[in-house]
Amino acid sequence: MIDVAVIGGGASGFYCAIRIKELAPHLSVAIFEKTGKTLTKVRVSGGGRCNVTHDCSKTSELIANYPRGASFLKKVFQEFGVDQFLDWLHSHNVQTKIETDGRIFPTTNSSETIAGLFEYLANKYKIDIHKNHEWLGFTRIDNQFHQEFNDRLDSKKVNVISKLIVIATGGIPDLGKIIWKSSFEWVNPVPSLFSFNADKSDLNKLKPLSGVSVSNCKIKIMGEKEAFQGPLLITHWGISGPAVLKTSAWMARKLFDQQYKFKVLISWVGDFTEDQVREMVYKEIDNNPKKLWKNISIFELPNRLWELILNESGIDLNSVGSSLNKKLVNKLTENVMRFPIEISGKTTFKEEFVTAGGISTDSISFKSMEVKNQSGIYACGEVLDIDGITGGFNFQGAWSTAEIAARAISKLN
Ligand SMILES: Cc1cc2nc3c(=O)[nH]c(=O)nc-3n(C[C@H](O)[C@H](O)[C@H](O)COP(=O)(O)OP(=O)(O)OC[C@H]3O[C@@H](n4cnc5c(N)ncnc54)[C@H](O)[C@@H]3O)c2cc1C
Repeated sequence: MIDVAVIGGGASGFYCAIRIKELAPHLSVAIFEKTGKTLTKVRVSGGGRCNVTHDCSKTSELIANYPRGASFLKKVFQEFGVDQFLDWLHSHNVQTKIETDGRIFPTTNSSETIAGLFEYLANKYKIDIHKNHEWLGFTRIDNQFHQEFNDRLDSKKVNVISKLIVIATGGIPDLGKIIWKSSFEWVNPVPSLFSFNADKSDLNKLKPLSGVSVSNCKIKIMGEKEAFQGPLLITHWGISGPAVLKTSAWMARKLFDQQYKFKVLISWVGDFTEDQVREMVYKEIDNNPKKLWKNISIFELPNRLWELILNESGIDLNSVGSSLNKKLVNKLTENVMRFPIEISGKTTFKEEFVTAGGISTDSISFKSMEVKNQSGIYACGEVLDIDGITGGFNFQGAWSTAEIAARAISKLN
């Protein structure tokens, strides 16, 4: 019999368990983790550096980075946002640094600093950690939860009784199958934050450019109004980088519905309008009428990309500046502003992959993270229908929701 059973030994589960013990040391807390390892995503996060949060103190600016859950998080962040989490980390002697793009990392540049801190505190506060314990469900009897776990090492069922449950299982698509699906509002999970795989026809064009990056692009899904801006990277299989991940996050459901078959239009010059681009082309022709097009650099794009754009526009690389007629200028402008790539799949390899969907925030009290019609059951982290774009926002969502749950639990008798 324990006071609090935290289900899931990831970022939000550990942080919640630790905070419960810090706020209410008398409560007994145990973490149950399905796999043989805890804090797996923390360790691989941010390329092994753990991008713990983002430099964004203003709630209104912070929530703009969450395609799902922003209005729910608004109230949560007002209670516990970036500054409060950083204060907590600093109070535990973890120093952090802000990178130029706003991402915050431990100064050690190692995710082990965060995972190590969590493990140290869990040990110090005597939080029991049960690995290889897969949560199968629960029955409520006399205001206690009789929970069933599958002990994966011994292949036997284990029963645990607790007064409270914290669900911190992350973005696990099959969790909806567990019995509580019927009592919670469940939003069908779909992937978010992934790279785009170019269709065969376009992949041949892109492959020789693998490794080329452009610092400021704008991506639009054909037929959609919104465009997403940021750096873009051409990969062996298509396109990636912050602009692509942002597009995948905001369009996650639409792209899922389209089975990841769609066309993107890329502006390689994120801050310029079409008229400005056309004007710059004409100016270049006037200034350098005898220069070969392959040597002309109007937008400071990488050479290999510039040559591809010229080729796709039907412009001979060895022709001179003045040889362009109006039709070719228009074609060049079109390919700088709306370079088309057919997409026929996605890749999550090495990406900050997260899940959109999970427990609907409508079912959760923002004051306590308690499930509205299931007193005693709390949820935090990615299992909620909350997800952010890349840059530390997903961890911040996990820390903040876990903190609110811990505070509410610590106030119970
Ligand atoms: C490669 C990668 C890099 C990332 N990098 C960053 C980054 O730098 N910054 C950032 O903000 N976000 C990053 N993210 C996203 C971030 O890791 C997640 O949003 C965050 O870990 C969510 O925390 P969580 O506790 O909700 O879920 P998780 O950390 O996924 O933990 C959930 C745990 O629950 C366990 N579990 C699931 N089902 C059961 C069950 N039935 N019984 C018992 N246990 C169960 C899982 O095994 C897992 O250990 C990254 C994600 C990936 C995949």
